[in-house]
Amino acid sequence: PHKQRLLVVANRLPVSAVRKGESSWQLEVTIGGLVSALLGITDFEVKWIGWAEVNVPDEIGRKSLIEALAEKRCVPVFLDEDLVHLYYNGYCNNILWPLFHYLGLPQEDCLATIRSFQSQFDAYKKANQLFADVVKEHYQEGDIVWCHDYHLMFLPKCLKEQNANMKVGWFLHTPFPSSEIHRTMPSRSELLIAVLAADLVGFHTYDYARHFVSACTRILGLEGTPEGVEDQGRLTRVAAFPVGIDSDRFVRTIQLPQVKNHIKEFEERFRGRKVMLGVDRLDMIKGIPQKLLAFEKFLEENPEWHEKVVLFQIAVPTRTDVPEYQKLTCQVHEIVGRINGRFGTLTTVPIHHLDRSFDHHTLCALYAVTDVALVTSLRDGMNLVSYEFVACQASKKGVLILSEFAGAAQSLGAGAILVNPWNVTEVASAIAYALNMPSEEREKRHHHNYVHVTTHTSQEWAETFISELNDTVVEAQLRT
Ligand code: UDP
Repeated sequence: PHKQRLLVVANRLPVSAVRKGESSWQLEVTIGGLVSALLGITDFEVKWIGWAEVNVPDEIGRKSLIEALAEKRCVPVFLDEDLVHLYYNGYCNNILWPLFHYLGLPQEDCLATIRSFQSQFDAYKKANQLFADVVKEHYQEGDIVWCHDYHLMFLPKCLKEQNANMKVGWFLHTPFPSSEIHRTMPSRSELLIAVLAADLVGFHTYDYARHFVSACTRILGLEGTPEGVEDQGRLTRVAAFPVGIDSDRFVRTIQLPQVKNHIKEFEERFRGRKVMLGVDRLDMIKGIPQKLLAFEKFLEENPEWHEKVVLFQIAVPTRTDVPEYQKLTCQVHEIVGRINGRFGTLTTVPIHHLDRSFDHHTLCALYAVTDVALVTSLRDGMNLVSYEFVACQASKKGVLILSEFAGAAQSLGAGAILVNPWNVTEVASAIAYALNMPSEEREKRHHHNYVHVTTHTSQEWAETFISELNDTVVEAQLRT
């Protein structure tokens, strides 16, 4: 049967482009939660619209990139360097990202940020309009347009101004903060009004949706209903749609012969030691220093474990040009160095810290050999790493220690050990508890999580969002 067309609009495309010549391009698959989630969609004819993360000033380059990306069902949005600086580095990453994760504005350049707020916000609106212009070129009647994330909060408004009948959904992949935080934003009202232009607004958890509705009622004075937000008879539907992963892909990967070999090598190499694992982008929100301090405290309190446990911490570099992130890298290295210096021996160290990313196969092998996974995000929209770990644990049935501030805590709370990452004492005892957990309890907890992860997939997430969007539009037409 004919598949419904879906235009997915996100800041990033699922591939990034590197220029190899005047008209030749090398395309690489990008890493990230959103991309992983949307790879699972198969029931729609999907086209991606997004920024290719490259500055292309010349016509030949633009034309050749459009052609190269077309094969991947991708359409680029071209943003020049100045705009990227103000829109992406500035408004998105320096203002929205920290505020939505309750971090406050970066200390380093806080006053400069406040002073340049208006120019960054103007750039943000301009960039959103450029995304809307590309959507317009590719839109056909009946298409669904699904806008993603905090980069594109203005897009629903731009799209509805072009065509009031367009079916527009918007989904936020980060937390939406308490209305008391959102209230501090100079552009607090404009942002909310722009998002409300969408037909359906989605969040990972019920709490984030509730925060958004409160912001609309308190800041805009609109009416919040169980369905969403109402403005003079027009309803914007607001609901929670927790994302999942393509769990089959992970289950299949760990059954591949080369991955099985890899798992065996790991097991032989670390025989007699329990393996703990952290996989995070090196971002303030992931609570990596807090995790390391908790591990240090655990080692202090449990000398019998010193040579019996190893923590792999994968810290994927991100925004390496930003001073705050450079400082975090130094801080993490210092703590790792101290712990390894204190607790290492001539032949072993307790922490293997790796500033790099790994491919899917290696990552799955790591997930599979892990006894205890440690997710200590201070705030995290969902956290897919926790889901991926569970999907790879069918034989090992290891333990997940999970921050209560990750969206995933709402869905994996019954199987995981939930912790407050700020409480180092609590996390240290959770580590001891997890390492000593009897197999019966481990199996029970794992089963709980495994059933959830394999039944709440990314494909189901996308289908639910889209069918809700279709229904919302039909209901709106019936009301008028
Ligand atoms: N990831 C990866 N290689 C690595 C580390 C991470 O491909 O070396 C992927 C991981 O599989 C996951 C994503 O990066 O799908 C991280 O998503 P998550 O929701 O946990 O956090 P985000 O980075 O989106 O904040």
